[in-house]
Amino acid sequence: MRFTFDNSFKASMEGFYTPAEPAKPSAPALLVFNHPLIKRLGLAVGKEKNDQFARILSGGELPEGASLLAFAYTGHQFGHFSPQLGDGRALLLGEIVAPDGARFDIQLKGSGPTPFSRGGDGKAAMGPVLREYLVSEAMAAMGVPTTRSLAAVATGDVVQRDRGHPGAVLTRVASSHIRVGSFQFFAAHFGVDHVVKLSDYTIWRHWPELAEAPNPHLAMLDRVIDLQCALIAQWMGVGFIHGVMNTDNVAVSGETLDYGPCAFMDRFAANTVFSSIDPHGRYAYGRQPQIMHWNMARFAEALLPAIHSVSPGDVEGAKALVDAIPGRFRAHWDRLMRAKLGLAARGAHDRALVDDLFAELETHSVDFTSFFRALAMLLRGDGARLAQLLPTPDAMAPWVARWWEHIESDGVSPLVRADAMDAVNPLYIPRNHIIEPALEAAEAGDMGPWQALLEVAQQPFVARPGLERFAEPGPIDAAPYRTFCGT
Ligand code: AMP
Ligand code: MG
Repeated sequence: MRFTFDNSFKASMEGFYTPAEPAKPSAPALLVFNHPLIKRLGLAVGKEKNDQFARILSGGELPEGASLLAFAYTGHQFGHFSPQLGDGRALLLGEIVAPDGARFDIQLKGSGPTPFSRGGDGKAAMGPVLREYLVSEAMAAMGVPTTRSLAAVATGDVVQRDRGHPGAVLTRVASSHIRVGSFQFFAAHFGVDHVVKLSDYTIWRHWPELAEAPNPHLAMLDRVIDLQCALIAQWMGVGFIHGVMNTDNVAVSGETLDYGPCAFMDRFAANTVFSSIDPHGRYAYGRQPQIMHWNMARFAEALLPAIHSVSPGDVEGAKALVDAIPGRFRAHWDRLMRAKLGLAARGAHDRALVDDLFAELETHSVDFTSFFRALAMLLRGDGARLAQLLPTPDAMAPWVARWWEHIESDGVSPLVRADAMDAVNPLYIPRNHIIEPALEAAEAGDMGPWQALLEVAQQPFVARPGLERFAEPGPIDAAPYRTFCGT
């Protein structure tokens, strides 16, 4: 496997990272390799054996031209500022430029300690690595902006967590790893020159057109806010709960970053939280827009010196951008929900229809994912699935009648509309009660169930016979699902 690296961060951002070396894995073995992503990235893959992929993508062999560095960052974790974080269990291999000109970081996650490990082992257990691979690829298939997973390699080493687990390394691909916490780090410790330098680099890398704006830093704040509003709306549209929306886990690119205790909700409840380290529900499903607002306020604060350095008056503009976030999020959410509900035209009462829907879904504990597919089936003349999802067949009859009125008012044929809904509403998501046994089997040496789940999740919108069990929620009497950060 050959990477043609073009390491812009290393070349131009000295002082913003620390060199680091991967630990040597004792017996690297390839678990999974993402062929479509290899193509998308335009990587040269020769006839080498899996053994060589495994060595390279676990840190056992360094590819030519690798830049090997750990990014410095900090962040607010659960609302509290941690002055020093940084890549403690991740290492940049280098940057590549795909055939279409898009630039990507290739990063190893779980390849051993770095100067930022703060006593941690820098390693990752196989279960969480395969969980990130699966969920990130499912998100990509659903059209949600995300970092991607190129490979997972077992290291042959044991990683101590609650007990010994087989270790693994994930190769993560991101349009960059620049985080809100990256800006916070340089704002807190180094001041305006560093913030301006990081901002200029970020603009060059992601949105070069913003360099022409009267105040590029302010223009970048505007862009990042918009991307976050869009992203959190998309998460919520597929029932995704990130679980640890600390500012160090927010990529300014607008990609979903750092899959830890994340999970998808089955039966709808706005206060759903899965993470074992979030007992107060700071990052619960329904709080994600508010937390995004809070995180963007921290981003604006970190950027203020740079914004001010161009024009002191623009500080007011930054404040206005932050204040406008709730309305901006709502605009993204309304657009997304109209598509999910098959409402083509903008109707005066859509907002109430959407808000009332969530109250109904919560009252009747309806499986969130299945509900939207069932509505499309209703448009095709089949009400059986909807009836099956509800405690009594007509439990949501008044809301459905209101939705139907909206549908009839804009004249699109029901079948066209049903197809459009199925193209945005996934049928298959990686469900908690299916992921967990698949991860356990993988750690015990059987990749079969995990591979099967991955294949299902890679085509989330297309119904296929034989896959019915993947479209069902877990047992209603199951114990509350708990997730752990534990990579
Ligand atoms: P996260 O929970 O993934 O957002 O991680 C928070 C911080 O802890 C980051 O700086 C990570 O690099 C670091 N970290 C998490 N787990 C480990 C580990 N096993 N070894 C070293 N650093 C870690
Ligand atoms: Mg993190």
